[in-house]
Amino acid sequence: MSHRPGRPRLEAPTVNRLAVLLLALGATTSFAAEKPRLGVVIVVDQLSAETFRARLPTVTGGFKRLTADGFVFHEARYEALPTITSVGHATLMTGAYGELHGIVSNDWLDPATGKPQLSTEDANFKVLGREAHGRDGTAPTSLRVPTLADAVKRSNEKALSVSVSGKDRSSILCAGRAGLAVWFDAELPMFTTSTFYAKELPAFVLPTNEKFAKQVASGAFAWGLPGGGITGKAPQLPSRTDDSEPFAEHKDIQDDIDTGEVDVALEAVKSLGLGKDDVPDLLTISFSGHDRIGHAFGADSPESLEEFAHVDRELARLLNGLDALVGKGRYVVALSSDHGVMPLPELAVARGLDAGRLDMKNLRERLDRELDERLGRQDWFLGSKTPGITFNAKFKDRGLTIFERLRAVARQQPGVEDLVLTSSPRGPWAPLITRGAYDGRSPDLYVITRPNWAYGTVDRTGHSSPYLYDRAVPLIFFGTGVKKGQGGTTEPINLAPTLAALLGVSPPAAAQGRFLEQVVP
Ligand SMILES: [Zn+2]
Repeated sequence: MSHRPGRPRLEAPTVNRLAVLLLALGATTSFAAEKPRLGVVIVVDQLSAETFRARLPTVTGGFKRLTADGFVFHEARYEALPTITSVGHATLMTGAYGELHGIVSNDWLDPATGKPQLSTEDANFKVLGREAHGRDGTAPTSLRVPTLADAVKRSNEKALSVSVSGKDRSSILCAGRAGLAVWFDAELPMFTTSTFYAKELPAFVLPTNEKFAKQVASGAFAWGLPGGGITGKAPQLPSRTDDSEPFAEHKDIQDDIDTGEVDVALEAVKSLGLGKDDVPDLLTISFSGHDRIGHAFGADSPESLEEFAHVDRELARLLNGLDALVGKGRYVVALSSDHGVMPLPELAVARGLDAGRLDMKNLRERLDRELDERLGRQDWFLGSKTPGITFNAKFKDRGLTIFERLRAVARQQPGVEDLVLTSSPRGPWAPLITRGAYDGRSPDLYVITRPNWAYGTVDRTGHSSPYLYDRAVPLIFFGTGVKKGQGGTTEPINLAPTLAALLGVSPPAAAQGRFLEQVVP
């Protein structure tokens, strides 16, 4: 028995030591004998480590159960940029960073076509149940490496994997190719999938969709329905019009969507028999409402706190449902987040900090003027999208001849910490940028904001930066084969390899993360 030097050694009575030994043996044996048959990945969109730590004393539901009985890493740091939804989901599920999985943002400018490209956009496939629009998220075509869902399927052809989210991108990037992704489409409004995954709607979404149909009949969702639904009012697009799912952003339905995600997940477990046989299955669920409320009101708002409490209650319902349907001792959970969030700039300013919102369009126009003056008038840039600016391909080489001048000009703009050349980055942010960059997708000029400055002016607050409020998230393991405990700082890329090990399957093929062995007894 080890003990601290200089302290009296406590001799426990023999019978107690025997009991401890037997307990330890029992725990080891049960881990070896009883492997979980269902892995459950839970993503709470936009949950920073600092927000989670601050709210922990308030939890009474699923968060309480997970943290009281699970193994908790309070801080898992994304060691890559940017910190954005599509990137984070791909990273959690592939166990790798953007340099490998290729998802560099929610959408990017394709220098080859000159057009914006959503991370899950593929016009070869169609959202089930409605007409195709110009920019629908439909498929994981842009994802370059396998997810945990793919790894589970690779381990056994009978393995099942279902992914549920309020966002198409979150569901699709978790499912990968071999899983089945379903998500909420607010225009329908119901849970759906695409022709990439299925020819018709999976039966397990139908009961939840009937509930939404009843709400529509009572006048809900009118803003997003073609023709204004039963009210006849024209749909009103919210301000964020470049999103693939603008109708789903409406703040009034976020708690309904998060409840619907749990309903769909439990119905999938029940009707498909996830976790029932000896083949390991996978369920992933990403709570999107928490992110949308955060953008609209700020992470410190009462609205965000209420949505967090709602997720806490829904998590409890999910875990109770899994106990009943799969059985305690037959499933294992990993919970994390795709990115954190920065405090409201106004709040930071009120506390004496330097904070604000960076206008990317203004910055791009300022750099364009500089290029015009020094090298002659051209349409130098294709455009700007968080976190950077992309050249018109034919002018790129010429424009970059005055890169140091552009960098100096950028650094004079409010909120800009640095302008970095993505293809050959220098400076303290270079390793993070390189790990998240992918040729032909990442912006040519990477903009680093100053701390507490948001990218963009539309949302009240946001994320994407290299600072810890955006990069650090909680990582929790819970359930069969996991001991109770706390760990130090880790990385979210370790989620997939660790859950794979707990399920007894190989990690995703391109994983850069590792099995966190301290979570097992
Ligand atoms: Zn997100």
